[in-house]
Amino acid sequence: MRLVTSPAEIQERALEYRARGLTVGLVPTMGWFHEGHLSLMRLAAKKADRVIVSLFVNPIQFGPNEDLDSYPYDLERDRRLAEETGVDILFAPEKQVMYPDGFSSSVTVSGLSSRLCGSSRPGHFDGVTTVVAKLFHLTVPHLAVFGEKDFQQLAVIRKMVDDLDFPVEILGHPIVREESGLAMSSRNTYLKSSEMPAALSLSEGIREAVKCVNGPGAESIDARQVKDLVRAIITAHRECEIDYVEVVDRSSLENCTEITENSLLVLAVKINNRIRLIDNSILKGS
Ligand code: AMP
Repeated sequence: MRLVTSPAEIQERALEYRARGLTVGLVPTMGWFHEGHLSLMRLAAKKADRVIVSLFVNPIQFGPNEDLDSYPYDLERDRRLAEETGVDILFAPEKQVMYPDGFSSSVTVSGLSSRLCGSSRPGHFDGVTTVVAKLFHLTVPHLAVFGEKDFQQLAVIRKMVDDLDFPVEILGHPIVREESGLAMSSRNTYLKSSEMPAALSLSEGIREAVKCVNGPGAESIDARQVKDLVRAIITAHRECEIDYVEVVDRSSLENCTEITENSLLVLAVKINNRIRLIDNSILKGS
């Protein structure tokens, strides 16, 4: 596996792959790899001849009071994990080369970007779409893999690709969970063991909601009842502050009142005002 830090070099190498008739798969990440990231890399390797993983803690997708400075980072650790997973190139640029002085462009997907995580993290998705657009130009991938854990990010990227005609196929990968049910996340490293029961309330809420809408009497359950049930499970932990608990249509992310096959339960919760966790699940039949 090759480590590349220069944007010019990654573009040259990616174009060279294409010139040789090889398909390129991209997995954008912010590093501190866990099994979720590695599963995305394996999917990319199954679907493309060459896999490029980007490792870039993108400063413009963090708000002023967020965890940019404390975000976990260990290039050597991630390099070893990516290599063991069969990645061809790990692209880990410095911030200054991605955003040199005078950088002044931005990609915005309006509408979708301002709801849910976008309303509590203003500007977050503009940061995401801007860096992903840059990564698409730098790595010229045939396909790119994103996790369904960041369901809104996936929807926003799909819209950007569709609206702006990026010739890139977007693949979603299901959420990878710990045995406990906790959705894997680099931010889980911030959790103290005393905070674990609170963190687990997200997946517990999902489990109970899924049970409820698929069990006896399910026809009469509406979105309001599901949200009340999940909120009660989460707020039973004093460490938890709910950012949102919503039931939305899986593609438009518009709120649902009825539960259908397309209804997605989406959650964002802050633990002790320090750690923001997100999770989601399709409700019917999952
Ligand atoms: P991040 O490094 O957190 O920006 O994540 C990089 C990619 O990995 C994104 O597409 C995420 O959605 C995806 N990802 C992160 N955690 C998980 C998980 N537990 N399961 C599946 N995909 C994930």
